[in-house]
Amino acid sequence: MTGQYEAVRDYFDTGVTKSLAWRKRQLRSLRSMMEDNLSAWIDALWSDLHKNPQEAVLTEIALVQTEIDHALENLHRWNRPRRIKAPWTFQPIRVFEVHQPLGPALIIAPWNYPVQLLLLPLVGALAAGNTAVLKPSEFAVATQNLLLKLIPKYFEDQAVVVVSGGAEITEDLLHQNWGHIFYTGSTRVGRLVMQAAAQNLTPVTLELGGKSPVWFNQRPQMEQACRRLAWAKYTNAGQTCVAPDYLCAPPEQIDVLVEGIGKSIKHMYGSAAEESPDYGRIINAAHFLRLKGLLKDAPIRVGGRCQEDDRFIEPTVVVFGSIEEAKNHPLMGEEIFGPILPIIPASFDEAINYVNAQPDALTVYAFTDDISQYRRMIAETSSGSLARNVGLLQAGATTIPFGGVGASGMGRYHGKETWKLFSNRKIIVSKPLRPDTLRLIQPPTKRWVRRSLSWISRSQ
Ligand code: NAD
Repeated sequence: MTGQYEAVRDYFDTGVTKSLAWRKRQLRSLRSMMEDNLSAWIDALWSDLHKNPQEAVLTEIALVQTEIDHALENLHRWNRPRRIKAPWTFQPIRVFEVHQPLGPALIIAPWNYPVQLLLLPLVGALAAGNTAVLKPSEFAVATQNLLLKLIPKYFEDQAVVVVSGGAEITEDLLHQNWGHIFYTGSTRVGRLVMQAAAQNLTPVTLELGGKSPVWFNQRPQMEQACRRLAWAKYTNAGQTCVAPDYLCAPPEQIDVLVEGIGKSIKHMYGSAAEESPDYGRIINAAHFLRLKGLLKDAPIRVGGRCQEDDRFIEPTVVVFGSIEEAKNHPLMGEEIFGPILPIIPASFDEAINYVNAQPDALTVYAFTDDISQYRRMIAETSSGSLARNVGLLQAGATTIPFGGVGASGMGRYHGKETWKLFSNRKIIVSKPLRPDTLRLIQPPTKRWVRRSLSWISRSQ
């Protein structure tokens, strides 16, 4: 793997990638790669995850295209040197910042949104003037193969390189001297990535996972709330990092809620979701069996059917009798990452306490018409984002910074934020030699200076 690293490093070291013209050319190539091969991207996503074409465009392809256009439109402005204010005691002086590429980027992606999670960071890396090695997930095989075919066609060999393979290959890559490592995936592997990056003090962005909780206490517009919740949960068969993982609600709301979610599932996917062109499949047999195992002995209220031959798991709702019962169930022991929604009866305070006892989530969801509860959730819980009455949108826009905190990750990206991650914000300080104001504070210390300094320190 050192060959690929050396190729992108050597090319970066020539300095050609720094110019705005080079960056824009790469972004345009990336745009052509998306546009010219639209049907191939759609087919790959269907083959990997049974994503319907509209969802493939909406949640993957269009996001990348929008991000490219945004970067092309704003790159000049982002890259302008910016003045920084200096204290009057430093005058005359000029202080400003410039952004320079950090160096070759390593971008590692998971399988659940295999196009956008790999290519959105690439947009920022190229916009910042870096070369890159891309490591797609080995589980999204069709997308990986398409990338292996298209990237060499649209980019010079040493500008962007795709590497295929599993953990060993990636471990090898991680030990090289990258300008930045951008990793999206599980918290467990995120820890390994950070350990490896520490050897070279390489800056890292970690976009990780975890259990995103929902507090649901919505009386008016119950139908709309249930529909939005079900859409956020069951899109891509629940294999979304910000999918609502579990839900807490007051006991008296649970029956209406289950009925509402059941109706929404039927409305979106019909009464036989396996026949719906809009419903996804589990990525592979191992994940299918993991999810099927989580349903064993679970108190299922909606769905629950599993078909191993096409890795289908029906949109499912599980209702626990109490927080205590839920705590002891395997469904609450790990990120579900599939189409199973556990519901737990709880008061607002019990729910907040439970959420706060768990590792920090990517998103905390508030489906509530009670403004004081919403405000308390903002103030009293910790997460990368908090979304009220909506799901998924917080992760899907160029202008909204996205990321986690603690166990759900570090760093924010999308749009300008991604460009910043891959740039070194260099501070330039320049002071004329005349007038020589610094002589005033240089030794030997003058009496009047000593007096002024002691007067200043006393008066503060
Ligand atoms: P994963 O961590 O198993 O794999 C992600 C990538 O890391 C793959 O490319 C894989 O080849 C590589 N990898 C695996 N083991 C490795 C090792 N030991 N050393 C180095 N690299 C290794 O994750 P996954 O199963 O593909 O994705 C699911 C997880 O990703 C979930 O937790 C989900 O919440 C999270 N996720 C987060 C975001 C986000 O934006 N925060 C988005 C999507 C998914």
